[in-house]
Amino acid sequence: THFGFQTVDETEKSKKVHQVFKNVADSYDAMNDVMSCGVHRLWKDELMKTLDPSPRTRLLDVAGGTGDIAFRYLKYISDMEGDGHVTIADINSSMLEEGKKRALNLKLNQDSVSWVECDAENLPMESDSYSAYTIAFGIRNVTHIDKALDEAYRVLEPGGRFLCLEFSQVNPAALRWLYDQYSFNVIPVMGHVVAGQWKPYQYLVESIRKFPSQEDFKYMIESAGFRCVTYSNLTFGVVAIHSGFKL
Ligand code: SAM
Repeated sequence: THFGFQTVDETEKSKKVHQVFKNVADSYDAMNDVMSCGVHRLWKDELMKTLDPSPRTRLLDVAGGTGDIAFRYLKYISDMEGDGHVTIADINSSMLEEGKKRALNLKLNQDSVSWVECDAENLPMESDSYSAYTIAFGIRNVTHIDKALDEAYRVLEPGGRFLCLEFSQVNPAALRWLYDQYSFNVIPVMGHVVAGQWKPYQYLVESIRKFPSQEDFKYMIESAGFRCVTYSNLTFGVVAIHSGFKL
């Protein structure tokens, strides 16, 4: 195209993702609870336990949306000495605005959070500037996952840790069948009934199906240069946490 080398499909995907999160921003947090029966909170807690941060952890939370991971980080370190700081990066201003409202309601120290509207594929942050990079339920929405991984590697300092929480492949097959029935038949209906929107929730299900398996994604993370890459499945692989280090 005149604007670069994106194919029509790629341009369509980024437009669609933008529209989806613009549309769902105000109902996003409530819908997460409804669709996962609250379990997303446990998955996110597990991500924070895996990171086990201290106030010295300079955290960049990409696709941070309404702040769920960043706020967990601040809660996790609240009993420790030191202030801590987290940067939330997201491409969608509507999601960030919801996050800012939540931060005010939670009476968080506003100096401990920075909000940056930007693309995971092209971060405005300096190289080697963070000790941890998290991305929760974000990377499958990115058009070029390899570019986002390259950027994660660039902004982390040597020794820095990459952690990704994402929907993954359910095992065993019998459970996968049940999960498919739930996601294809129930989630879009719930989206329609509770949030008045069908399409964003249909997109959610489709994007989960298209995302690489645990092993394939591990290989992609290694290809970006990360070492000691591992993953752990949660809830039979409904989601997985992938971890890697920049060494
Ligand atoms: N991390 C939050 C959480 O776990 O609740 C939000 C996850 S939400 C499902 C996905 C987020 O990814 C949205 O806020 C969306 O705007 C953001 N996003 C999608 N594409 C992105 C991109 N290329 N760069 C940065 N953020 C992106």
